[in-house]
Formats: sequence, structure tokens, C-alpha cells
Amino acid sequence: MALITYLTTVKFGFGEIAGIGADLTAIGVTRPLIIADKGIVAAGIVGTVQKQAAALASAPVFEDTPTNPTEEAVLAALALYRQHGCDGLVAIGGGSPIDLAKGVALLATHDGALESYAAILGGIPRITASVAPVIAIPTTSGTGSEVGRAALITLTDGRKLGFISPHLIPRLAICDPELTLGLPAWLTAATGMDAVTHCIETYLSPRENPPAEAIALDGLKRAVAHIERAVKDGSDREARKEMMMAALQGGMTFQKGLGAVHALSHPLGGLKEVSLHHGTLNAVLLPAILRFNAPDAQAKYAEIRRTLGLAPDTDLAIWLAELTGRLGMPQSLSAMGVPRSVIPAIAEAAVKDHSSATNPRAATAADYAAMLEASFG
Ligand SMILES: [Zn+2]
Repeated sequence: MALITYLTTVKFGFGEIAGIGADLTAIGVTRPLIIADKGIVAAGIVGTVQKQAAALASAPVFEDTPTNPTEEAVLAALALYRQHGCDGLVAIGGGSPIDLAKGVALLATHDGALESYAAILGGIPRITASVAPVIAIPTTSGTGSEVGRAALITLTDGRKLGFISPHLIPRLAICDPELTLGLPAWLTAATGMDAVTHCIETYLSPRENPPAEAIALDGLKRAVAHIERAVKDGSDREARKEMMMAALQGGMTFQKGLGAVHALSHPLGGLKEVSLHHGTLNAVLLPAILRFNAPDAQAKYAEIRRTLGLAPDTDLAIWLAELTGRLGMPQSLSAMGVPRSVIPAIAEAAVKDHSSATNPRAATAADYAAMLEASFG
């Protein structure tokens, strides 16, 4: 049986941000809380968005979103939301502010501890339609969180858990590539590789959903064709637009479920001793996971090669490592500063991660440990 769901509303194009005043009115939000991070504020993007509508010009701004969103930050933003009597959220940034806004939108309307809504702890049916409305404005091209049903949040005890519900999908995503023109090269590469990973992992997921697979392949083709251009010249408007579309497409296929790359990058992203960028982690992990999955994914690997115009004997793992090398990205977990001592705990956490179930080849803790070992280079 196939379950195919498309619910998202997206405004896409240069200059789309100008209509946000009318968008807020249409959704019924009069007192929004803006969620961003210090980098987005410093880049002037929050100010640009605030200029578009009176309700935003006077809105409170929560700018303390950590690189990997935490329960503490959700609670701090929630206090600001309540203090100002807010009735909705505008999330501006990469995946972190958007995921944080989803956490606030959830707790603003649902009682109890955040943990009780985690997917892995049976929280999915506890999340109802009363979630506060969120408008997501991505400023990177990668996360897909603007159209995704999940928020990844690290709890106070260090577990990085997924909160998943169709009710967490932002009411509206405004994808305006203009906002990504100033994104630094390394972040363009890292977030772009996150989009590439979403397209590959959702395509490989065994869940039946042909429309999503077609979207994933198209997103992958777009990303691969434009990521080097966007990294080399951030002002390349066509490359920026295509990367934003690829990221959106990666997000539209999340309903198929991700795989072993994300099962590993989620707990790695929750490490307290070292702060690791999600997209960079995925880029480093991808080759080892592609090798592990190969026995159970031959037909789909052949389709990926055809879609990308690669020779039929291309080793996808090597090809991807060469791509990230040209993008100037780190080539191993050691180069990212990850200590080898984390391998057993991360391997155990990966088996329990919600993304593990849709990997094309079943992976045990020992398999995950071996994939990690291979990724240390
Ligand atoms: Zn991701």
C-alpha cells in the first residue's frame, strides 16, 4: 500500500518576501514572534523581512537559536512568545530556526514536557491540529524543513530526537532565493549537500511513493548541476534559484523517510563536546553509507547514474567524495574534529533513530559502527 501526501503551500521566487504582510493576514497572525539566529540578524536579513510588514516591524525577535536546536532554546523562545501574547511564528534562517519555531509552535498549544511528543517515544498521535501557525522563510538551500513535518531538537539530557507530525508543516513556506545570495561558500556547500543527501536517501527508501521518487531524482539532478556554481559565485542568481528548488524538492520527499546517513548524523549533531554542521556530516558520511547499501540498491543506483548522466560503471561513493572534495569540504569525521571514542554510543543511537527504519538495507549497531569507522578515513 502506498501513502502519498502533499499538503504544503509554497511561494517561490525572487522578491516573494514582499507579500508577507498579506500572507500573515491570510493566515490570521497579528502578533508574530520572529525566530532567527545571530548570524541571520547580523546579515541584515531579519531587518529586511521586518521592513515588509508593520506586524513584523514591531514583532519580538528570538535570536538565540543554537546551531543544533535545543530544548532550552525552545523554552526560552516560548517564554518570549507568551510574554508578548503572540499568535504565530515567522521562522527566518536555515533548518535550526525553522525547527526551533516548530518546537515553540507545538509547546505553545500542547501541555506537558517536550519529550512526550518525540516520534520515537510514541508522540506522533499526541500532536494535534492546534499547533500554532508558522511561516517559514529559508535563508539557506538545504534543510527542506520549510516544507517538512519534522523538527530535530536536542533534549536537555543530550538526546537529539525527531518530532514528527503533518501538523508541524509550516502553514506557508516563502522561498525567496534573493535571501540566499549572501550565504558564505562553505555554508552553501554544506547545506547544498544536505539537499543532495535528502534526495538520495528518500529516493532509496523502500517506502512506495513514485511521485516522491520522481521529485527526489529531479531535485538531485538540479542540485548536482548547480552546487559548484553556487559555491564558486554566490551572486549567480540562476544557481541560487536552482539550489533553493532542489532543497525544497528534497523536503517534499521526506514522507518516504530518510536513511542511515541521517540516522548517524542526528546523534552526531547532538554531541555536546563538538558542534557539527548537519550538512557537512551528511556529506562526510554519504560515501560509506552508499557502499553499505549497494547490495540492496543496485537498480536505484543505476537510475541515479542515468539521471545524472554518469557512466554506468561509475562508483557513486567515489563520485560523491570527489564532488565534496571539489567543494572544499572535509573528507572525514576526524577532519571535523569528531573523537573516535563516540563510535559505540553513536552506533547504538543510530539504530534507535527514526530514519533507520527506511534505510534500504537493515543496519545493526555493528553495521553502523563499521560505517562510522570507514568515515573516519
Ligand atoms: Zn538533513
